[in-house]
Amino acid sequence: MNTTKAVLPVNLLNFDRKGLSAFFVNMGEKPFRATQLLKWIYQGNITDFDQMTNLSKSLRSYLNTHCTITAPEILLEQIASDGTTKWVLEMGLGNRIESVFIPEEKRGTLCVSSQIGCALACTFCSTAQQGFNRNLSVAEIIGQLYVAQKRLGDSKRITNVVMMGMGEPLLNFDNVVAAMNLMMDDFTFGLSKRKVTVSTSGIVPAMNRLNEACDVSMAVSLHAANDELRDQLVPINQKYPLKELMATCKEYANQGPRKHITFEYVMLKDINDSMQDANELLKLLKEVPAKINLIPFNPFPNSDYVCSSKQTISRFKDILYNGGIITTIRKTRGDDIDAACGQLVGKVKDKSRRHLKLQQMGLANAI
Ligand code: SAH
Repeated sequence: MNTTKAVLPVNLLNFDRKGLSAFFVNMGEKPFRATQLLKWIYQGNITDFDQMTNLSKSLRSYLNTHCTITAPEILLEQIASDGTTKWVLEMGLGNRIESVFIPEEKRGTLCVSSQIGCALACTFCSTAQQGFNRNLSVAEIIGQLYVAQKRLGDSKRITNVVMMGMGEPLLNFDNVVAAMNLMMDDFTFGLSKRKVTVSTSGIVPAMNRLNEACDVSMAVSLHAANDELRDQLVPINQKYPLKELMATCKEYANQGPRKHITFEYVMLKDINDSMQDANELLKLLKEVPAKINLIPFNPFPNSDYVCSSKQTISRFKDILYNGGIITTIRKTRGDDIDAACGQLVGKVKDKSRRHLKLQQMGLANAI
């Protein structure tokens, strides 16, 4: 009986520097091959092993036979009136994800997805309504940066990355950490740790592990200042309530000089936008080095919420600011192409069967 299995080629975009060094050492090569390869791929934009002239002929031949450099394919590109660019990327088996580039005068930010869909059920987020299929691989995460920079060319540099696209990054911990370490590597994009931000709904055990694994900026999707409301808006709060979350945030911020946590707070009319809410928020954040980013709610089809008025958001901001917390209002970007926060949907083959569950509950129209 023939038991030989076809061996799939190894996609080298799946390795950070440490992983790539180990890969080369394993095959009897020197570890510095890793930095040579990273430079060719990410700085030289070379994917043809035969053009990697500082590798030996035998190594090139091995790589040709056993390895690939495969980034996700762009299926669709949309450019909004404000220059925000959204790419829909093919993930196979009927799945698609989205990445968004937000140009500003002095910087260019790429919003990167970490999962196909999302397993969490935040009630104001359209990604949540899509259900969940799977985690993205390292190649599929770093690949978003790779294809975006290639597409933008040299005139528009990606200077910042926010892990704020589809998915909960800290529920795909290992792959997200490897991809973030890779984008901060001097031999790839060399982004500084202050310019890479991971956003989380508050996965406390993973937040506790993050600083050891990868030193980046942290944003926490707070959205409510008491457990009663947060349990509804961000249901993972039922597992990791505010007391635990705040203790973890405090510890994270205390791990380095000038470190702080950015708290994201979506402004929902008559839900979390009263002056009492603002005061409660001030009290909650009293002991945490914090900045607050107020996000005007971006509507999506069949969403139940309405965005707070400009005046309310501005008054809410004043209370926080006067209470001593740096507070900004996030500019809504790319909403004419559904590229704004919470509007990314891609196409998700829902393995979590959320559609079915909602149908059974008679809630199919809610999505
Ligand atoms: N799961 C991670 C990453 C998503 S980041 C997290 O929860 O942090 C996307 C940010 O946009 C989060 O702060 C999220 O709460 C917010 N958001 C989601 N839906 C939104 C909507 N419809 N309007 C405005 N912001 C939204």
